[in-house]
Amino acid sequence: MGVTREQFIEAFRSSGHELWLVGGALRDRLLGLDSKDLDYSTDADPDAIEAIAGALGAPVTTVGKRFGTIGALVGGEWSEITAFRGDTYRDGSRWPDVTFGSSIEEDLARRDFTINAFAEDAFTGRKLDLYGGEADLRAGIIRAVGEPERRFREDPLRILRGIRFASQLGFAIEPDTLAGMEATAGLIATLSQERVTTELDKLLRGKAPRDGLESLRATGALAFALPELVPMIGCEQNRFHRFDVWGHTVATVDAIATTPETLRVRRWAALLHDLGKPAVRHVKANGEWGFYRHETAGAELAGTLLERLRMARQDLHTITLLVRRHMDRPDPGESRSVRRYMAKSPGRWRDLLALKRADNASHTYDDAEYHDLLESACERIESEEADRLKAESPLTGDDLVAMFDREPGPWIRVVKERLSAMVLDGELAPGDRPAAERVARKLMGR
Ligand code: ATP
Ligand code: MG
Repeated sequence: MGVTREQFIEAFRSSGHELWLVGGALRDRLLGLDSKDLDYSTDADPDAIEAIAGALGAPVTTVGKRFGTIGALVGGEWSEITAFRGDTYRDGSRWPDVTFGSSIEEDLARRDFTINAFAEDAFTGRKLDLYGGEADLRAGIIRAVGEPERRFREDPLRILRGIRFASQLGFAIEPDTLAGMEATAGLIATLSQERVTTELDKLLRGKAPRDGLESLRATGALAFALPELVPMIGCEQNRFHRFDVWGHTVATVDAIATTPETLRVRRWAALLHDLGKPAVRHVKANGEWGFYRHETAGAELAGTLLERLRMARQDLHTITLLVRRHMDRPDPGESRSVRRYMAKSPGRWRDLLALKRADNASHTYDDAEYHDLLESACERIESEEADRLKAESPLTGDDLVAMFDREPGPWIRVVKERLSAMVLDGELAPGDRPAAERVARKLMGR
């Protein structure tokens, strides 16, 4: 299986270089978490790193070389080996300029948080922990290395990284660090969107997203990272709700059930499901706040927001679909109603049900029984009526053009929609072409 870790470490030792395990990999190992990749720091420069790894015959990548990093496949895992850093940041720059440092101490001083700023000698296992990182790791504390405000000015991405770690690890942000974030939050506006989006996505996928979201709000970072969400704060609701729209949103993100495959889509959908509420809020005849059709307004706003964040197409589509449909309330006792509900969110009824359950978690009434009934009804229809649920018109557009000898046009969509609705409602068997042709002729007046 290629180069072993022992061979790799030995090659650095015998060439007279230092090699330190650092950063996320070391942090995650001490926390007992799996880390996908290993980070090393060395006094060797990028050319020398590449030469050492290359001489061993390890597969190497050089995509990060201008930032001082060489990737190598060692012991079946990707390792990132980075030349000691002495990054200099131009204030307000979108990307850091990289310069190389001359010692591990200088390298560690440039790192963002104490939990990311200790190292372990790869040869001896000796720890170098100049900022109390291991103690902070054990206590669950996010603390900036050095003077927080200055470190956040150097690279405002650290604000979002710190908040993201709070969410990923369930850690608390130390008060001076939090104050430094608050003082510099406006600088988030100078960062590239890609870097911001990556952090927001990691934050939302964390194990304590409530802490991350509350820190975004408390530091004011929300106004620069996700300004579209600010109107939710203090947007009061009616007696069915325990919180304002923001508090309800955070509770929904916290409550939604997920699996590794559904985590991203469900958390984002929970975050955005009530995005339309502040814009449509009105006073109803009974004097209560109403949010008529907020799901439609919300889906529009969510689409625009996710577009701005450059969310992948497929995820954007699914998330906005869930936002648009989250108020659907079919009658679980009526198959026709449940079928229509499922067909309106193709392949997504489980995600939608998870969102509806989570949405209800901070309402003042309990709707679990309704959701259980709806879930059983969906399960039954899915297993017994899979064909019908696809609701495909038995006739294609080409079939219809040939049948009526007529130019293609909007009439095709009208006929096909009618036919697929009939399949869905059980009035037409899936694939029954003769019956579909009879219906089509009638619709076309022939
Ligand atoms: P993960 O890989 O889980 O996102 P990580 O901490 O490993 O978390 P990386 O971006 O892989 O994050 O960075 C590796 C290490 O580089 C960090 O642990 C930290 O020591 C340092 N680092 C990364 N980004 C910055 C930054 N913006 N400022 C200072 N140090 C940083
Ligand atoms: Mg990493």
